[in-house]
Amino acid sequence: MAGSKCIALIAHDQKKDAMAEFARSHQAALADWKIVATGTTGGRVLDACPDLKVTRLKSGPLGGDQQIGALIATGEIDMLIFFIDPLTPLPHDVDVKALTRLAVLYDIPMALNESTAERLIKTLNH
Ligand code: PGA
Repeated sequence: MAGSKCIALIAHDQKKDAMAEFARSHQAALADWKIVATGTTGGRVLDACPDLKVTRLKSGPLGGDQQIGALIATGEIDMLIFFIDPLTPLPHDVDVKALTRLAVLYDIPMALNESTAERLIKTLNH
């Protein structure tokens, strides 16, 4: 049942517009899913799509990436869409690495850029 599934959304600052647009254009596919997101990303997604069920965690640099990693480790995340900015140094770079490592370890479907996310989201309700 799609309603019990959970998707995690994260976007670095230069990618937040892209994430808001992504959520808007896939709102129908996301509607039955629980969504967890880092703080600012979640706010942007909710601004774009107020009807989605979004739980906002801490902002990424304040531990939000690690919170999502912990949810992956406890089996609560079924898909990760993480729009990474490859051009900007980040204070929480180690957290990004830890999160993507856990997503690989637990074999979570993970998109790190828009073209992969576009393909992955098509599998959501199938
Ligand atoms: P944010 O966190 O959504 O709170 O900005 C994302 C990040 O930078 O990891």
